Amino acid sequence: MSFERVIGMESKTLPVMQGDYQLRDYEQTAKDFKWSEAEKEFSWHETGLINIAHEAVDRHANSYRKNKVALFYKDANRKETYTFHEMKRMSNKAANVLRNHSSLDKGDRLFVFMPRSPELYFAILGALKMGTIVGPLFEAFMEGAVFDRLSDSEAKAVVTTPELVSRIPIDKLPHLKTIFLVGDNIEEDSKFIDFNKHLKEASPYFQVEWLERESPTLLHYTSGSTGKPKGVLHVQEAMVQQLQTAKWVMDLKDEDVFWCTADPGWVTGTAYGIFGPMLAGATSLILGGRFSTDSWYESIQEYGVTVWYSAPTAFRMLMGAGAGPLEKYDLSSLRHILSVGEPLNPEVIRWGMEVFNLRIHDTWWMTETGAQTICNFGSLPIKPGSMGKPVPGIEAAIVDDRGQILRPNQMGNLAIKKGWPAMMRQIWNNPEKYDSYFLNNEWYVSGDSAYMDEDGYFFFQGRVDDVIMTSGERVGPFEVESKLLEHPAIVEAGVIGKPDPVRGEIIKAFIALHEGYEPSEELADAIKQFVKKELAAHAAPREIEFKDKLPKTRSGKIMRRVLKAWELNLPVGDLSTMED
Ligand code: ATP
Ligand code: MG
Repeated sequence: MSFERVIGMESKTLPVMQGDYQLRDYEQTAKDFKWSEAEKEFSWHETGLINIAHEAVDRHANSYRKNKVALFYKDANRKETYTFHEMKRMSNKAANVLRNHSSLDKGDRLFVFMPRSPELYFAILGALKMGTIVGPLFEAFMEGAVFDRLSDSEAKAVVTTPELVSRIPIDKLPHLKTIFLVGDNIEEDSKFIDFNKHLKEASPYFQVEWLERESPTLLHYTSGSTGKPKGVLHVQEAMVQQLQTAKWVMDLKDEDVFWCTADPGWVTGTAYGIFGPMLAGATSLILGGRFSTDSWYESIQEYGVTVWYSAPTAFRMLMGAGAGPLEKYDLSSLRHILSVGEPLNPEVIRWGMEVFNLRIHDTWWMTETGAQTICNFGSLPIKPGSMGKPVPGIEAAIVDDRGQILRPNQMGNLAIKKGWPAMMRQIWNNPEKYDSYFLNNEWYVSGDSAYMDEDGYFFFQGRVDDVIMTSGERVGPFEVESKLLEHPAIVEAGVIGKPDPVRGEIIKAFIALHEGYEPSEELADAIKQFVKKELAAHAAPREIEFKDKLPKTRSGKIMRRVLKAWELNLPVGDLSTMED
């Protein structure tokens, strides 16, 4: 099979913007940097003893950052502020509650299953102080999804709310001994514990468990875009990379107010919703509740957010809301914007330049990598359509199916040299699956397809399984989708390969239209012509189907496997992470 890239996304490079970025000289740093240097900030560099919650919270509470705001929290009903000192006290209290009212021990699994609230963060940090493994569950999970994850991991305890507890099939989970309920007027018995009541009474002192760098911390189930979610186990050492990327990629400094929009149910919401910024001693904003254009813009203004980490699906929604809401708010505090989770379409970057006068920096990584791995940096030019270059210390390459490194511009498997600090250490209960990620015990193979250009920039093409082979040419769905988004009528697009007796596969596009546009055959033809003219004839969809909206995971990723299953009348598989 040929690995040549067949189409290129012509793009205008965006030059570096003014800013005193912490990663000044990318090329030199990429050459010289060793992860062991990044450890020196942590006390365990000398003691060998380690605890991520101590490093994220207590270390700052015991320093000049004691009274600095660690967390601004806001939702429809609550507005609270916690300093590092208060975070230390509250997480200590949470640790005491969890320890005193359950049999949780080091290495046991505790799940958190609740909407964002300060208590959620206290519970996660408190559990980590005990050395308990934390499994975050997204609040929208229904019974089947909750059951799968709690039984697979043999969870011993859950922190949840009275509203959600009915979705935990307690009788079918013999390992589940304790349920902490976060709410008012909780009736307690041997199994159900009133979390808030005990939190109020608990001692603010707690002796953290000192652990090894290989001790487990989080058990994150993946997003389920490509199949049944996998339980990815992370360890303490991940903090080295989380802190270093908070500095180099997020460019977080003491004066920043950082807002990561992700829920802790997904890896972005823990690695960068909690640990990255806290390890760096930065101030974080956490916004509860659902997406709304106005409350998002309003919060940026209200808290003076300077660094903002979100996802293409959110940017596309803001883009779709138009200029009206933008005129109401002052967003001039923003200085650095980043994106993750899905390919960042050049059209979205163009929009970001227009409305914020800032470049949006794409970052590529996955649950399994534990922290950012390929990114656009403040001090490097951006090539729209590219996810950037490897974080210094990370070796990334495009390899073929035998592990041979391919030449620039050849499309193949995006792979990372085994052994970076935040790398997963296990797929829970599934060692075969874990082993299947690694090629020749050397390369971690991501499952994503990409190419690298002459300048070392990586370009995402699609999931390996989604790459389309049409008339002998390989086409990545991302380039076609990005081109489609440039058409004024289109708000969202998902592209799949559909088996075809003559061409192998043909390209089929599922399209959602902007308000004011109606599906029609003329419009479908115009769209096909548009891609033909602007991208390449063979990359133009032969079939177009209009949809009100596309099937997406709750974290906002288009589920192409569902589109494909619908198209081919195949079973759709695990839908636990799909939004309503
Ligand atoms: P599952 O593994 O259960 O199918 P998932 O792969 O979507 O779900 P995550 O680990 O949350 O679960 O997502 C990682 C994937 O998201 C990557 O493999 C990649 O396909 C996609 N992704 C993340 N960031 C980017 C990015 N910047 N550009 C393109 N794709 C991205
Ligand atoms: Mg995946």
